[in-house]
Amino acid sequence: MHDVVIVGAGPVGLFLACELGLAGCSVLVLEREAEPRSPYKGKSLGMRGLSAASVEAFHRRGMLHQLRVASGAHDDPGADSEARPPSSLRGVGHFAGMRLDPARMDDAALPYRLPGAAMDGMVTHLEAVETVLSEQASRLGVEIRRGVTVSALTQNEESAVAHAGEHAYPARWVVGCDGGRSTVRGLAGFAFVGTEPQFTGYTMQASAADDGKLRSGINLTPTGMYLQMVAGHIAMADFDGGAFDRSQQLTRDHLQSVLRRVSGTDVTLTEVHLASSFTDRAMQTTTYRRGRVLLAGDAAHIHSPLGGQGLNTGIGDAMNLGWKLAATVHGHAPDGLLDTYTRERHPIGAKVLDWSRAQVAVMRPDPHCQAIQGVVRDLIGTRDGTTYVAQRLSGASIRYDLGSEHPLVGRSAPDLHLEDGTRLSDLMRDGRGVALDFSTGQCLHGSAKGWQSRMRHEAGPVRNDLGLGAVLVRPDGVVAWAGEPTPDRAAFEEAASRWFGCPES
Ligand SMILES: Cc1cc2nc3c(=O)[nH]c(=O)nc-3n(C[C@H](O)[C@H](O)[C@H](O)COP(=O)(O)OP(=O)(O)OC[C@H]3O[C@@H](n4cnc5c(N)ncnc54)[C@H](O)[C@@H]3O)c2cc1C
Repeated sequence: MHDVVIVGAGPVGLFLACELGLAGCSVLVLEREAEPRSPYKGKSLGMRGLSAASVEAFHRRGMLHQLRVASGAHDDPGADSEARPPSSLRGVGHFAGMRLDPARMDDAALPYRLPGAAMDGMVTHLEAVETVLSEQASRLGVEIRRGVTVSALTQNEESAVAHAGEHAYPARWVVGCDGGRSTVRGLAGFAFVGTEPQFTGYTMQASAADDGKLRSGINLTPTGMYLQMVAGHIAMADFDGGAFDRSQQLTRDHLQSVLRRVSGTDVTLTEVHLASSFTDRAMQTTTYRRGRVLLAGDAAHIHSPLGGQGLNTGIGDAMNLGWKLAATVHGHAPDGLLDTYTRERHPIGAKVLDWSRAQVAVMRPDPHCQAIQGVVRDLIGTRDGTTYVAQRLSGASIRYDLGSEHPLVGRSAPDLHLEDGTRLSDLMRDGRGVALDFSTGQCLHGSAKGWQSRMRHEAGPVRNDLGLGAVLVRPDGVVAWAGEPTPDRAAFEEAASRWFGCPES
């Protein structure tokens, strides 16, 4: 009997496995594919944009350097990036194909964001993400069993059992991280609701006889959209109501005819090396937990890849769920802690689905939608518009409602920098919460002792205190409480009990 069985060794299942392993849970990951590698996960078709929030998650667990190396990034800013410009949102993508101008970003809109190694998003690919996470999971004692397809599931009040053929894998909890066509979601009876697709999307690695006929970058056309970031890697959206997706073989003739239609050219594809299709179907489960079965990542929410948010949302789910499930397994979770997973993450997923729907609506090739496109383009071109979209894409706009009016509570913690050179992110590597006390009298010392196995207490002056005296940061990097220069100890203890349970005797 494992503490947790995770179904699916995609990026979300692996990230969650690392979080649970770090917290000392016994974890088994069951993965359908016998081989971790696939041409669809490599540098071309597997290319993915990670938001600043996801980069921060890797950084907080000490995996960012490995991820940059595995991704082939040449611009590793190193652990201490004080010299970098304060804007975290440089190079942030687009909305419905309309690119943002980073120069218009208003850094003053993010007063609590401090410069550090995880200020920007980055480009990676699925193979790099999964390799780094698999290695970390193995170091943490997580077992990954490949070539195992989960096909049945049972649960009672004490446990849940995933079945694959003749084999049964019992656990106290099962988490479905098995992607958009999740088997676990169906077997556990989750309701999956949302909207049907407007388009079939395609992504392909192809050679063209005359690729000069295609423009580079993202191109919104009167008949759809096509995108070519590097020569030969082409994506496109064909507004056929999603009819084609997975209904027929992806032939060269079909892809060429769609590309000609959406690009308005007579380009000729000489060879298609790899291709896959997708749609903008936008669906989400109504809850992320049923009894002893939980969902995370694409298993819980699917939408079009426009604006690159699916993986980022899934990593956010894994960070949020990991420590809560671990505390529940270890028996020290305060009442209702696990239910805050759905309460916090479901609204984030719903917003991402709407963000994707809004982009599809703006991209539709009809006169009304194109008129809206013009208006949105004007708005995005303003300073406030750029800042708004950049905050949504980077994850900087995410704030959980934790019932506090303090503007920092519920947000990702600023990477505070102690005078001795330590950063808050350095203190988060072991997966515990952090009480960082930079008040003059360092008065939280006695209070924090009560939770020392679940929360680390560090004290000392910081280089930029942001007008605060102390912060309590949850293991997922979210600020649970922020104290004045002379912190209120009783308020700190109340927040610590709320998130970390009763103090140890
Ligand atoms: C073209 C494209 C571009 C994208 N670009 C971006 C981007 O730039 N940024 C971004 O954030 N997101 C992007 N996404 C979305 C992102 O790829 C997904 O959201 C992400 O991969 C989901 O991860 P996951 O771990 O939840 O699911 P998956 O990656 O689908 O992993 C699920 C795993 O579960 C396994 N599995 C399935 N069923 C079973 C079973 N019954 N038993 C055992 N194992 C099972 C599968 O083999 C797989 O390994 C893009 C998607 C596409 C299609």
